Amino acid sequence: MQRTFSIIKPDAVRKGHTGAVLAMIEKASFQLVAIKKLSISKRQAAGFYAVHAQRPFFNSLTDFMSSGAIFVMVLEKENAIADLRKLMGATNPANAEEGTIRKKFAGSIEENTIHGSDAEETAKFEIGYFFAGYELA
Ligand code: ATP
Ligand code: MG
Repeated sequence: MQRTFSIIKPDAVRKGHTGAVLAMIEKASFQLVAIKKLSISKRQAAGFYAVHAQRPFFNSLTDFMSSGAIFVMVLEKENAIADLRKLMGATNPANAEEGTIRKKFAGSIEENTIHGSDAEETAKFEIGYFFAGYELA
C-alpha cells in the first residue's frame, strides 16, 4: 500500500465539483484516509509550492491557491502516487486524456481542479505539511 497527497483546488470547490471529483477518486479504488476543508493564506500556499518559487507563474499560482476553500486529503492504494497522477490527467487540461479529472473539470493550466504528489519524497513532505500524525492513525 502507498499513500499520496491530493488537493481539490479552489476552482473545483467554487464550481461545486468536489463531490464529483471524490466520486471519481473512490471509483478508482483509492481509500480516503483523511480529508479536511480549509482556506490557506498566500504564504501558506507559497510554502507548499516552494519548489516552484522561481517559476514565472508562482505569484499567480499562490494567489489562486489562496483564493478560496480547498479540500486537502490523503489517499491510499497500491501504486497510489502514479495512479492518481494518471487519473488527474495532464497539467494543461487541453492535453489531458478523456476520462481524466482535469479533462472533465479543469478550466485552464492554472485552474486545473486537482493536485497530486509526484513522488514518494514529495508525498511525505506534502502530507506532513497539512496533516498531523494523529489525523492519519
Ligand atoms: P500539481 O503540482 O498541482 O499536482 P502538476 O504537477 O501537474 O500539478 P506542476 O508543474 O507541479 O504541475 O505545477 C503546479 C501547478 O502550477 C499546476 O497544477 C498549475 O496549477 C500551475 N501551473 C503549472 N504550470 C503553469 C503555467 N505554465 N501557467 C500557470 N500555472 C501553471
Ligand atoms: Mg506538481
